[in-house]
Amino acid sequence: MNLLLPAVDWLMSAYDATWHAFPTAQVNDPARTFYQALCDHSVPARHAERTVPRVFCPACLVLYGTHVPDEQRWQTDG
Ligand SMILES: [Zn+2]
Repeated sequence: MNLLLPAVDWLMSAYDATWHAFPTAQVNDPARTFYQALCDHSVPARHAERTVPRVFCPACLVLYGTHVPDEQRWQTDG
């Protein structure tokens, strides 16, 4: 486990059909009625869809990338 990696879930916002990085702690909290992405985009929980990403939010990518060391930026768990 790499503590430098922020725990985020990329979920599609139905508002802009773009995948934003939402903190996993928010997504896993059933009491939350909305999620707030790294870029400050917020969306009601019922409008955040968990599907395979196609269009990443540029702001979230930059904010997420700043937390990830260069040599690990393009690695995935898959
Ligand atoms: Zn975003």
